[in-house]
Amino acid sequence: MSIDSLVNKHILDMAPYSSARDDYKGSAEIYLDANESWDEGISSSNRYPDPECTELRRLVEKELSLPFDRTAIGNGSDEVIDLLIRIFCLPGRDSIAITSPTYGAYKVFAATSNVSVIDIPQRENLTLDEEAIVEALDEKRPKILFICSPGNPTGKVVPLSLIERIAEHNSGITVIDEAYSDYASGFESAVPLIERNERVVVMRTLSKAWGIAGARVGILVASRAIRELFVKVKPPYNVSSLSQRAAVATLSDPDRIKRDIKVTVEERKMLEKSLLRYPFSREVIPTEANFVLLRVTDPVGLYRYLMDRGIIVRDRSCERHLGGVLRITVGSVEENRKLMEALDGYSK
Ligand code: PMP
Repeated sequence: MSIDSLVNKHILDMAPYSSARDDYKGSAEIYLDANESWDEGISSSNRYPDPECTELRRLVEKELSLPFDRTAIGNGSDEVIDLLIRIFCLPGRDSIAITSPTYGAYKVFAATSNVSVIDIPQRENLTLDEEAIVEALDEKRPKILFICSPGNPTGKVVPLSLIERIAEHNSGITVIDEAYSDYASGFESAVPLIERNERVVVMRTLSKAWGIAGARVGILVASRAIRELFVKVKPPYNVSSLSQRAAVATLSDPDRIKRDIKVTVEERKMLEKSLLRYPFSREVIPTEANFVLLRVTDPVGLYRYLMDRGIIVRDRSCERHLGGVLRITVGSVEENRKLMEALDGYSK
C-alpha cells in the first residue's frame, strides 16, 4: 500500500507552516525577519533554532550511520510517536497495534488522539507471537504497528528476520523503536529495511546511551515520503537551540559514550549475576538494555524497602508476564554498589 493511501487526507491536503528560517535559508549579516530580540542574552539563545537540525543530523549520520536524508529530529522520540499517530490515524476511526508488555507511551499517545489500541500480547517467554500478529494485522488493519527492540520493559531483541516478515505482511506502517539498541551486543538495526519497504520507520533517541534525556532529542529514520510528512506536521522549532547544542557536543565525543556503554553493559552483567544469589530472588530475566529485571516474591515490599533507603526502582509487576518483577536501571559503579549493599540487608 502506498504512503499516500495510508496518510490522513487532511494531512496530505494541508499547507505546512513556513517559518522565517524556512523562507530564507542562506546566511546573512543581519536578520530582521523573525521578530527575535537583538540581545544575545546570557544563554546565546535569542535566535530561533534551525528547524531542520542540520548540524545535528550531519553528526547523527557520522556517528550513528543514519543517512542524513532519511532522518528528522523530534522533541524526544515521544514526540515522534505522537506525530506518527497524528499523521496516519483518524481520531475515532483508526487503530494502532502494540505487543504488550511494551513501552507505555504508545497507547497513551493513541488515547490522546482518540485512536484505539489493539494489543497483541507477547508469549510468556517475552518473544513476539508472529501468528497472532499476522492474524491481528489481517483482521483489524491497524494503521501503525509499534515494535520495541530491544524491548522496554522486556530487554529482549526482536530478530531482524521476524521484523522483516511482519513489516512485509503489514499493509500499514511498522515502527521499530530502537531506543535501547546501543546496549545490545551485535545488534542488527531495522534501518536497512526502509530501502526495501517504505512503510518501515525506525526511532532512535539520544536519551539512553547517549546520555542527554534532559535535552529531548529523538530521531525518526524513514523513507522520503514519511520523512516529508513528519517535517510538514512537526512544530517548526520543535528542538530548541540549547538541545541542538547539547546533542552536537555529545555526538562530537563518541568515545566517551562508547566507554559509558561498556561500563553499563559490564555492570548489568555483574548485577544480573549478583542479584541471582539473594534468597529473595526468584529469577533474573536477562536483558540487552541498561536495566535488569528482578523477579521477587514481594515486589512492593522490596520497592518500599529500597525507597526507604533512598533508592528508587520501577515496579513492573503489573505488566503482562512480569508478575513480581522490579525493573532496575543500571546506575554508576558507585550507585550499583550502594544498591547491592542495601539488598544485602534485605531478607525475605
Ligand atoms: N521508547 C522507549 C522504548 C523508551 O523506553 C522511551 C523512554 N523511556 C522512549 C521511547 C522515549 O524516549 P525519549 O526520551 O526520546 O522521548
